[in-house]
Amino acid sequence: MPPKSTDPVSTDSVVTRFAPSPTGYLHLGNARTALLNFLAARKAGGRFILRVEDTDEARSNEDFMTALFADLHWLGIDWDEGPDIGGPHAIYRQQQRRAIYEEWLSRLDVAGLTYPCFCTPAELNIQRKRQLASGQPPRYAGTCRNLTQEERADRLVRGLPAALRFRVPHGQVVQFVDLVHGEQRFNSDDIGDFIIRRTDGSTAFFFSNAVDDALMDVTLVLRGDDHMTNTPRQILLLQALGLRIPQYAHVALLLGMDGSPLSKRHGDTSLRELRDRGYLPGALRNHLVRLGHSCVTDGWLDDAALIADFDLTRLGRAAAKFDDAQLRHWQKETVAHLSAEEFADWIRSVLPQGLDAEHEAQFVAAVRGNVELPSDAKVWAKVVFGKLDEFEPAALAAIREAGETFFGEALKLIGHPGAEFKPAVKALGQATGKKGPGLFMPLRAALTGFTHGPELAPMLALLPLAEVQARLEHARRLAV
Ligand code: GLU
Repeated sequence: MPPKSTDPVSTDSVVTRFAPSPTGYLHLGNARTALLNFLAARKAGGRFILRVEDTDEARSNEDFMTALFADLHWLGIDWDEGPDIGGPHAIYRQQQRRAIYEEWLSRLDVAGLTYPCFCTPAELNIQRKRQLASGQPPRYAGTCRNLTQEERADRLVRGLPAALRFRVPHGQVVQFVDLVHGEQRFNSDDIGDFIIRRTDGSTAFFFSNAVDDALMDVTLVLRGDDHMTNTPRQILLLQALGLRIPQYAHVALLLGMDGSPLSKRHGDTSLRELRDRGYLPGALRNHLVRLGHSCVTDGWLDDAALIADFDLTRLGRAAAKFDDAQLRHWQKETVAHLSAEEFADWIRSVLPQGLDAEHEAQFVAAVRGNVELPSDAKVWAKVVFGKLDEFEPAALAAIREAGETFFGEALKLIGHPGAEFKPAVKALGQATGKKGPGLFMPLRAALTGFTHGPELAPMLALLPLAEVQARLEHARRLAV
């Protein structure tokens, strides 16, 4: 679909990126960010880059990175450039881009815009507390900014660990238009000189992230609004380096239903956990795209419709709450959109091994309306293909209520070869004087162990006659 002329980003060259740090499994917040970036690029016919921000070597690991690729693919996201497929801006792992950062750091150096900082974490902590105590916002006090050449040389000779700070210009207003929050203004005097290279030699996030966006020709940085206050710092760096400044869109962080940031105590928060519980990618996509973005279509969106429906102008500020009930709603919708074959593939692991195609198809048709997760299909597979050894309390009550005679009649009318369910049940009603739930409920309870579930006749068609007889007989004895 061609991009609309009202799109706030020029459309022929949109380049977005997802830039995760592989320090854990992909969580829902990041999955949403990835999805929105992917959709923004696809909608505009642009490019989507995957860049791995693994500068924190202690916490990043290879397994998380492999899992990240798999999780994104599972969600239906692919990328045009990335560590696994290369691309015109290779390299896509920050750990391997050190030489590039050194080169750009030295440009700042040459311009006199950096200085080594010897302050220890303890000293910085004291500064911070002092500022907070006197009601000032905490920022670097500038202790090492004005050291003389001799003082610096002396500290370096003594081998004191040195970080590198960016000299933030005084008295400037940093302005940008955020696609979600509108015009933003920050006073540079509120921003302390910040670290661009840590004492261990690694480049700080502010620097590597901004430099990479510029070098990779990223035109739109769409990320969580926890990064909003980082943006003026990054703009200052890009200005100092003469690099292109992208557009920014900061979307509201994902919250749990109680309004606090989504975390473990809200239950499963990684994509992997939800996938393992049987949620389908279409369900996640449909829920996530509506968090911080409003869709024109209320109904379920397939991959192409999702791209068509996405619009940067509909990113919103409303709190984005991850809602289990919503996820279940989209899961139901997604299940309903599976073909019979897809549905069968999805639940096959809960079916008896070697089940023939005809019975499999019959089972799928019988239960699919009652299946949200494969664990539901497992319950019905046990009812149909296994032995009935458990009854819900309500089912037991319904059996006892119906009484022994009811099941004696049922055995005669339903439990014989060639019995057709509907006429047989009608005859049972006539013979016992029961009707409505009083007729159907005890039968369902006796044959399935439940008082609710898929339509009975198609399930019953899958039960061997001997099993139907055994279950009715068992119910008859229970009802004595
Ligand atoms: N690695 C950063 C994060 O995961 C990237 C932030 C950004 O998108 O700029 O938070």
